[in-house]
Amino acid sequence: MEELKESLRSKAKELGADLIGFASRDRFGELEEKHNPFAIFPEGKSVIVMGRRITRGTLRGIEEGSNFSDYTMFGNHWLNDEFVAISCYDLVCFIENMGWEAVPIFPNPPEAGATGVPVRKGRPAPNVCPDFDYAAVACGLGEIALNGQLLNPDFGSLHRLQMIITDAPLESDPLFEGGLCDGCGECAAACPLDALDIENAREITICGKTMRIGTYDSVKCGVCKNGAFANYLLKTAQPDRKAAACNRACIVCLEQRGALSRGFENEFRKRDPWQLDLLGRPAGRGE
Ligand code: SF4
Ligand code: SF4
Repeated sequence: MEELKESLRSKAKELGADLIGFASRDRFGELEEKHNPFAIFPEGKSVIVMGRRITRGTLRGIEEGSNFSDYTMFGNHWLNDEFVAISCYDLVCFIENMGWEAVPIFPNPPEAGATGVPVRKGRPAPNVCPDFDYAAVACGLGEIALNGQLLNPDFGSLHRLQMIITDAPLESDPLFEGGLCDGCGECAAACPLDALDIENAREITICGKTMRIGTYDSVKCGVCKNGAFANYLLKTAQPDRKAAACNRACIVCLEQRGALSRGFENEFRKRDPWQLDLLGRPAGRGE
């Protein structure tokens, strides 16, 4: 089993994946059917979560406030729809060449919900959209931080993930021990719209690992002009906040603490961050 995992790890790396983790079926027993990967492949035995990094430089134009469009391609659409998807598809082919069935899963927003009717009694309505945060934690890839982002020890929140469900038996990776999010509150403090409440954070437990998550004011985040983008797959789903002021503050914080395994010659933040208010007018420290 370990030999199979090693060959998948090394193939994924060859295919350009920066992240890969494994979890066996028993780690998904507590997950509701409508977000459970094994509702899609009931005879599956394992889940693989793999992905690629968002390069730090992809956020440079947003950090400087001078280019917002290139992030949406290299950091979001192209990365999801092409770069990660191609690595995922090629890994799926590699697994099927070994005689195991492999189901590729795209990270559709969980809010997409059911759009059909159950085809038989006791089955969930399509489309089941697996919970990627749950799966990534179950695969040992990281922890969910107070700002709701999945933090990975190598790339922090800068990654895009896809999933493979397979009938290959694969042993679970150890859960990530945690400690990347130290509760500093910089994410909430950086929001010009006061849209992130971390004082009343709720607790979630995944595979016995408990994490605290703050609450966003989705209405404010939906109109935020500080680097947040509407979900390009579903307008009503949570926006993409990876490049937003709240998450860029977290990137700075992780970097300053040396919390990630990877470092850079120069700091990400070069000057006070800019801020725009609800109406898109310059406000705050970067004014
Ligand atoms: S900024 Fe601090 S509190 Fe917020 S998510 Fe990052 S590490 Fe956690
Ligand atoms: S997305 Fe915008 S409004 Fe929402 S918490 Fe982040 S910075 Fe604030």
